[in-house]
Formats: sequence, structure tokens, C-alpha cells
Amino acid sequence: MTTIWLDGKWLDRDTAMISVYDHGLLYGDGIFEGIRVYNGRVFRLKEHIDRLYASARAIALEIGMPREEFAALVEEAIKRSGLRDAYIRPIVTRGVGDLGIDPLNCKKPTIMVIVDTIKIWPEERYEQGLACVTAPTPIPHRESLSPRVKSLNYLPHVMAKIEGRVAGADEVLMLDASGHVCEGSGQNLFIVNGRTLRTPPSYAGILLGVTRNAVMEIATQAGYAVKEELFNRYDIYTADEAFLTGTASEVAPIRSPDGRAVGTGKPGPVTRDLMTKFRALVRD
Ligand code: PMP
Repeated sequence: MTTIWLDGKWLDRDTAMISVYDHGLLYGDGIFEGIRVYNGRVFRLKEHIDRLYASARAIALEIGMPREEFAALVEEAIKRSGLRDAYIRPIVTRGVGDLGIDPLNCKKPTIMVIVDTIKIWPEERYEQGLACVTAPTPIPHRESLSPRVKSLNYLPHVMAKIEGRVAGADEVLMLDASGHVCEGSGQNLFIVNGRTLRTPPSYAGILLGVTRNAVMEIATQAGYAVKEELFNRYDIYTADEAFLTGTASEVAPIRSPDGRAVGTGKPGPVTRDLMTKFRALVRD
């Protein structure tokens, strides 16, 4: 059952409420994570907690709780939920302040952990592949708000997602200001040529996905070459295969970017191999 921890209290969907003066709401001033539980076990909890604390550091936010305590809190929340397969959303905001932008009066952060479930696309998309389009809204400039910060400022990604839906697509490809392909609205991107995988590098202006890292490890172990390189839409249009990775999305094949078929227009053998290996890894 949905279980929520909010600043020391165990609540549910109807009772978990935050102040309208919380700077997370007023200014998107906060950070979050998305974590999966498979068969009662958390997938890569340490990596997610480390990224949460790195995001906090980047926006000068003091979480005020040791990492081990945060990790234990996540485990406790899962136990209380009774869910064996779940999606966890830790959120830390700057906290309650006043209406000014300056967070000087935010005396302590608001901390939340939500345990629920998530499903982004119907199962058949994993068999047939996703139709993607390039979103008109670009990724924020790296020096504006680094895309490596998993912040509560997701408006560009929300805009892109709406643009994709309006265009009748399942997902979007977001570019940076100079046209390099960066990521999906909530996923990292890979293209495949032969036995070589390519994914944009950390400095490209992407969130460094935990799933991305896991897939790079699995692929390397399986004998594929993995390169972190900048690329453009042309490279996706002409790739043999393409797929997205993310905690909520897992490994999801792309069948058509901007109306062209990738490879045969069906999930290719490398993508299918990595999907199988990823499923085995998370259930291991
Ligand atoms: N990029 C963005 C913008 C995301 O929101 C996410 C989801 N957290 C990802 C990539 C994938 O990251 P992860 O594999 O850690 O979920």
C-alpha cells in the first residue's frame, strides 16, 4: 500500500500534506530521486542516495540527515508498505520559508519518502518499441541548472513530454542548445551500431542515470563495446538500434525517431539481449 514518510510522520496519500510556503512548491527549490524495488530488494540504493546527496550539494542544500539514516529510512518505508515491487520517491525541499526567493528563512529542509508503484508505458511498447519525436524544448543549459542535478525544476522535461504527446509519440528526445541529442524526458539514450553502443557523455548535459551505468556494465561484460560520445539526430536515424534507460522505464526499445524506422523498425537483437540481461540483474 502507498506509504509516505513526511518529516518524521508515517502518512498515506490522503494525509501527507506540505505547506504552501514550502520553497519546493514556490520555487522548485529541491531535489529528488526515483528508486525501484524488485522482489523486495532495492536496486542500487547506494548509487541513488549518493546522487541525492550530490544533487543537494550542487544546490547548496543541507539535508541534515546522515546518508546511512536516509538509506535506512528508505528500507523502513518499503517494509511498512508491504510492497515487493515498488517505486520510491525521496524528495528534499529547501523547506518552509516566506514568499521571497531568498531561502534565508527556510530553517530546515522538508524531507519526504513516497513508496508507490509506477508504469510509464503499456507492456506491448517493450515488445514493439517506442515511437519518439524530437522535442522543441531543449535541455536547460549546463551552466544554468546542470542537468546532472535531479532537481524539482522539471518544467523543460514536462514541456517536452507534452510536446511528445501532442505529436502522438510515446516519448521525446531532448537536444541541447547546439543540437546534440541528450536524453528522453526521464531516460538516458543509447544507440547501437553492430556490437558498439554509444551514449552521450556526462558532460553532454544529461542526468547520469543509475540504469545507464548498470546497462553500460552489463553490455561491457557481455562483450559489447561501449562509447560515451556526443551525437546528433542523424546518428539515431541511421543507427541499427536505439533504446532508452531509466529507473521507471527500465530498458525500452525505440522503434521510430521522428517517423523513421530504426533498423528493422522492431527491437533489435542487442536491445533485446540487454533487456533480458537487465531483467535478470534486477531480479538477481
Ligand atoms: N534523465 C532524466 C532527465 C531522468 O529524470 C531520469 C530518471 N531518473 C534519467 C535520465 C534516468 O536515470 P535513472 O536511470 O537513474 O533513473
